[in-house]
Amino acid sequence: MLIAFFQLLSFTPQDYGAIENYIPYEFSSYSTHPVLTLKTILHVVYRTKNDPRNIMADNMDFINQQYQWVNNSYKNLKPPTLLPENKVIHYVPDSRIRFRLDTILIHYDSIAWDRIYYGIAMNGSFPLKIDSINLEKNEVKLIGRWESVLNSRGDSLSIGGSNKNNGVYHPLSIYSRENNTYIVMKEPLKSKDSSGHITYFRKIDKNCWKDNWEKLAGSDKNAIHIFYTGATSSQPAFGCGPSPYFLNLSKLNLNGDYASASLTAHELGHCLGLRHTNYPQFNDLPARDKFGFIPCDSTTTSNNIMGYNKCRNYLSPKQIGFIHQKYSNDTALIRTTANGEFNPLNNVKIKWNKTWNKATVISGHLIIKPGRTLTIKKMVSMAKGANIYLCRKSKLIVDGTVITNNHGEKWGTIVLCKSYRKKNRKPYRKIIYGKIIYKNGGALKNHTN
Ligand SMILES: [Zn+2]
Repeated sequence: MLIAFFQLLSFTPQDYGAIENYIPYEFSSYSTHPVLTLKTILHVVYRTKNDPRNIMADNMDFINQQYQWVNNSYKNLKPPTLLPENKVIHYVPDSRIRFRLDTILIHYDSIAWDRIYYGIAMNGSFPLKIDSINLEKNEVKLIGRWESVLNSRGDSLSIGGSNKNNGVYHPLSIYSRENNTYIVMKEPLKSKDSSGHITYFRKIDKNCWKDNWEKLAGSDKNAIHIFYTGATSSQPAFGCGPSPYFLNLSKLNLNGDYASASLTAHELGHCLGLRHTNYPQFNDLPARDKFGFIPCDSTTTSNNIMGYNKCRNYLSPKQIGFIHQKYSNDTALIRTTANGEFNPLNNVKIKWNKTWNKATVISGHLIIKPGRTLTIKKMVSMAKGANIYLCRKSKLIVDGTVITNNHGEKWGTIVLCKSYRKKNRKPYRKIIYGKIIYKNGGALKNHTN
């Protein structure tokens, strides 16, 4: 039982290896713990061309500042203000997670723009037929007991289908007597003609909907699509990050600039798989975290990016490790990263014998120095065109896993060489060629030839 419990804590079902292996500590090498860069596409949705009611898409000062603040909050984390139950300070200063702006697209679409609005409810028993109108009391009578339903549905009612009384009304009081309901209106009723019906306004909340991602991004899964939108409803800025492929941010034009960046950092955290911290997702988080856009402190309210506090400048090592674990193993999610783009500045040189027990995404060449052995026990994702250089007498052991490309491309090839400096020349004698050894079904995939 104890063993089973331990395994539950240490391994995900897919056996990605422990979260702890993925935490980028200050001393962790960038070879094994590279910076994870998420590609983002920004969609600025104007209500109409003449009345955008949004951030302007050419406002690069605003947009660049937003990315700078968001990246800074993931790069320069502060220590936690509120500690977990065991009072240990769990702290990594840099999450090694970044967001890159690749494209800005403009859309003119009032439906896509309006994320929260009110519609006239036409569902269930609604609209209700008006029975009679008492002009002296400015009161509408309905058959049936609708008091509690109407009281719970907001503060505006709509009369339609009437000759004279059509319009929006605010009830002063709603009460039931016998089997009838009476609504006293604030605005004067114009006629005692009882034709027409009455209903409430239903809040339509598309904050977390996927319609914009489907319609404006073609359900693309190669980046995170960020939608700047608006809303007819009167509430302040809001957002939702329900998917690894998109998030919505509404009313940033009416919000504080830094508050918008803080909201964006939080929603991006959701996109990457983090949950709220009111209850801990990982055991290095506090047992409780008070919510409500209040200052952070050391007794009730954390400074976690995934909390509702005014600080939002901390992520726990396991929150960070969890993201790196997902984005090193999940072959669909890896496609949203820029880590598959070849960059020779990110060459990985194996200077000592090493065993990799975590999945690793490499964007440069992998070079195993003369005489050294690298044992790979979890998937290695190579960039397009990147090679593996096996210098003389080196060994690459692929043990029960694959070396592959997860960006729909092909990585390069295995190059046998004397040394990386003499990478175009093979060693003189075959016996000292570098070797690749496959164990437990280990294999190369998606490589050239
Ligand atoms: Zn949230």
